[in-house]
Amino acid sequence: MISINGLHKQFGDLEVLKGIDLQINKGEVIVVIGPSGSGKTTLLRCLNILEVPTSGSITIDDQTADFSKSLPKRSIDLFRKKSAMVFQHYNLFPHMTAIQNVMEGPVIVKKLSKAEARKKAEQLLIKVGLGDKLDFYPHQLSGGQQQRVGIARALALEPKVMLFDEPTSALDPELVGEVLQVMKDLAGEGITMVVVTHEMRFANDVADEVIFMDQGKIIERSKPVDMFTNPKEERTKQFLNLLQ
Ligand code: ATP
Repeated sequence: MISINGLHKQFGDLEVLKGIDLQINKGEVIVVIGPSGSGKTTLLRCLNILEVPTSGSITIDDQTADFSKSLPKRSIDLFRKKSAMVFQHYNLFPHMTAIQNVMEGPVIVKKLSKAEARKKAEQLLIKVGLGDKLDFYPHQLSGGQQQRVGIARALALEPKVMLFDEPTSALDPELVGEVLQVMKDLAGEGITMVVVTHEMRFANDVADEVIFMDQGKIIERSKPVDMFTNPKEERTKQFLNLLQ
């Protein structure tokens, strides 16, 4: 249901993605690992067209974006609705409460009435364990709570795929678990997820498949047990040894 074909991304002279081909089935949780600068975040941002790929195509559900052509804004807007991103630094609106942050997308993007959007936002905040923080502003919440608002906000868009860009790496260690637990619960519900993370235990426990990227390419793709106990490629072995 997600098909990435021949995806390239160049920033000036720097070729960051060098031909990514990847198919992801509905309901799969894919964890992307790899060294700093290997292009993991850029790949995720291309899936949401936060970065416009230089060439290649991406299909999500029934929408295809072909980057060999210039895309009309309408096509980009339609394509973007297929995914929702959870950012490393939460990116909440600081002047809005938790519930206002979650309502914003459905009201603006999905044209829901405020009453409908509020009801839905409340349900989602309850789901991520923040039913008692609806009217708190981001600065009144811990990092873990802010990130859970970020997850609720992404879910409110009812995307076909949730994209997580190092969602726990800005958090104090004691707050990481609560965010990973919410993500585990979502995975258990069958939500399609692409997760860039350095949390190898999460990858091991939750991923259907792990992708190892290096220097803008997918080097290896396998089930977590194979990736972590018996990687095939020398580069993957080196990387995983470095992490131990
Ligand atoms: P990390 O684990 O450190 O977050 P990453 O694998 O996610 O790394 P990217 O953030 O995708 O890597 O970056 C890949 C390369 O692209 C890096 O060399 C980075 O400096 C470069 N890059 C990313 N965004 C831009 C940009 N907007 N302009 C120019 N270069 C960029």
